[in-house]
Amino acid sequence: DQPTLTVPSSPQEINELGNAFNELLKAQNQRLQRERDFVSNASHELKTPIAAIRGNLNLIKRHGDKHPDVIPESLEYIDEESSRMQNLIENLLHLSRADRTDLILEDVNLSESVNRIGKQYQTTIAPELKLDIAENIHIRGNEDTLKQIIVALLDNAHKYSPANSTIELNLKKNNGQIQLDVKDQGPGIPEDQKNLIFQRFYRVDTSHSSDIKGSGLGLSIVSQLVKLNNAQIKVLDNTPRGSIFRITFLED
Ligand code: ADP
Repeated sequence: DQPTLTVPSSPQEINELGNAFNELLKAQNQRLQRERDFVSNASHELKTPIAAIRGNLNLIKRHGDKHPDVIPESLEYIDEESSRMQNLIENLLHLSRADRTDLILEDVNLSESVNRIGKQYQTTIAPELKLDIAENIHIRGNEDTLKQIIVALLDNAHKYSPANSTIELNLKKNNGQIQLDVKDQGPGIPEDQKNLIFQRFYRVDTSHSSDIKGSGLGLSIVSQLVKLNNAQIKVLDNTPRGSIFRITFLED
């Protein structure tokens, strides 16, 4: 449908036009505000590791000669902080790419690909991962980004739950919908923050996540990639404890 522009004639129509215009302005202001927040969050996150790196370099320059014992610890900090920065930059690049790209969607045998990713994750990272994958489920999607999504969710499940507690990766059809679940037995997500965790830089502010390193970008990347695959993601409570990250796909 082509939008048509009609010239308002009655005061009521002029009023409606004014309201529509105000709505448009409001939406644009919100978008600008989100972009400004993003830039200021990103700069803040990058400043912290750079300050730590420069501080430790200074320490080595000033005291390294007379107190060589400060060197190994400072180098360790520099190493850690620079890899944090590298991660952050990689994530920011992922985000801006995901913002723009339109993915090529193809037929994917989701059963096979989830199985492969799960088995690989079991052998290399988390033997406590349990797989329950229905066979022969196909979707229209993009295999590379699907892998990125699944690994990011498994990484979070692994990172935020107690060592060796069971993590599950399940794929099934349910009422004509295809459901992919990543379940863990970690602390769960408080009800009022279930939507917020998908926003850029958001981290749940509790003791469990403050000890665990992260940028708060992982789930916002996941959520964009899920959208590009024409799917949806939400988080539910697991029983008796933990979270379920559920992706719902349309059937091919
Ligand atoms: P990051 O892990 O880098 O902080 P994410 O965007 O991946 O960023 O996650 C955002 C926040 O959501 C995390 O900081 C954490 O508080 C919470 N979170 C994510 N996954 C889980 C999980 N499986 N269990 C509990 N909390 C989680």
